[in-house]
Amino acid sequence: MSEKIPVGVLGATGSVGQRFVTLLAEHPWFDLVLLTGSTRSAGMPYGEAVNWMQATPLPPRVAAITVQQSMPPLPARMLFSALGGEVAGPLETELARAGHVIISNASSHRMDPDVPLIVPEVNADHLELARRQSFGDGAIFTNPNCSTIGLAMALKPLMNVFGVQEVLCVTMQALSGAGVPGVPSLAIMDNVIPFIDGEEEKVESEAAKILGTLRGDGIVPAELTISAQCNRVAVLDGHTECVSVRLSRPAELEEIKESFHRFSGEPQRLRLPSAPSRPIHLCEQPDRPQPRLDRDTGGGMTVSIGRLRPCPILDVKFVCLSHNTLRGAAGGAVLLAELLAAKDMMAGITVPGPGDGS
Ligand code: NAP
Repeated sequence: MSEKIPVGVLGATGSVGQRFVTLLAEHPWFDLVLLTGSTRSAGMPYGEAVNWMQATPLPPRVAAITVQQSMPPLPARMLFSALGGEVAGPLETELARAGHVIISNASSHRMDPDVPLIVPEVNADHLELARRQSFGDGAIFTNPNCSTIGLAMALKPLMNVFGVQEVLCVTMQALSGAGVPGVPSLAIMDNVIPFIDGEEEKVESEAAKILGTLRGDGIVPAELTISAQCNRVAVLDGHTECVSVRLSRPAELEEIKESFHRFSGEPQRLRLPSAPSRPIHLCEQPDRPQPRLDRDTGGGMTVSIGRLRPCPILDVKFVCLSHNTLRGAAGGAVLLAELLAAKDMMAGITVPGPGDGS
């Protein structure tokens, strides 16, 4: 392509913000030109402001970028938001009104009726909802909660083929999901914490929106009941979920496996740079998926599903695992941005032809 698209990261010093930096530093379509933080970091070189916790080194070019405050005017139209929950809502609205296209990981706008809540393989058609927004040239798109993304990816093939009526979901969520600096070691070592504030409500409501149907007057939520129980465990990255599902019609395990195998979406069709070749990997080993062994499958963008077996109460049960800061946050948001760009849904921002991504 002739020129890359300039992009910025809001809240670049946090857990998700750092993941954005690793994904965008060498992105084939996007040029990372802007990093923001709170007043604590603004004015400092990023390398000094950030407590870098990624396994790959911080690129020197990025370390030298001066962190800016998260308010207009900002020198990139397209902004990835990794702002903390309470500040994200009003700041993202202000920036969209100033003409920015926001792709947000924060929960503030996810359930707004005119804001798309997107898992690119699951509901790319919901992007059209943004045309109802009244931000002028600006727009807000959102990425779901990190546990919801893995669950929605697992449920979508089942919905497509068999229908889904009821879901029980118990999560074991990684420490990086709690942001920087995270959960104190004395709280989590030798322990499981059976409470993550607001998480169960997010899983239950967001999944119905994602799996819902776009109609003329907005999204009609999917008619399924989800009961979630969310736990924090001493894992660095990767959310594991034990899921039981009542289907709308009887299904053999082999048919269900086939539905997972066949599952694919717009990112694969368009061969977007961050799309894994397979969004779902079915583990055949009896003791998989495991976060340490399976979270990086497909560059952290593939959801691993295993232990598929009949459920004596509902119909079928399985374990699914997704990387919470990659597929569940920054990676999912970058994939969403690629989808928007490839579908020419950001006025004035163009990308090379499909497949020209790597
Ligand atoms: P985090 O580590 O706490 O990072 C928060 C970021 O927001 C930091 O860069 C911080 O900058 C910035 N910030 C805080 N107060 C600010 C203010 N008043 N003005 C401007 N910037 C401010 O949080 P995180 O875990 O990365 O999560 C970021 C967002 O993504 C949250 O909304 C979270 O719910 C969502 N999310 C997280 C995950 C995950 O797995 N962690 C997954 C999905 C979604 P300073 O360092 O300069 O203070």
